[in-house]
Amino acid sequence: MALQINADDCTSCGACEFECPNAAISAKGDVYAINASACTECDGESPKCQAVCPTDCIVKA
Ligand code: SF4
Ligand code: SF4
Repeated sequence: MALQINADDCTSCGACEFECPNAAISAKGDVYAINASACTECDGESPKCQAVCPTDCIVKA
């Protein structure tokens, strides 16, 4: 269970990186990516990364 970032729409703004309680998000080249083994989908709460993404490019894997 993990969310993923749609690289086509990620603007590399970096907003999501610091919201993640599990440090699952980091820059990978020109865009950001979620480490699927670290993402817990915020343990059933509203995903914090999704809440701040300006382009709504963080989606269910
Ligand atoms: S859903 Fe939660 S745990 Fe997963 S990457 Fe986003 S902020 Fe991190
Ligand atoms: S908040 Fe959205 S647009 Fe910004 S780096 Fe994260 S995934 Fe990319």
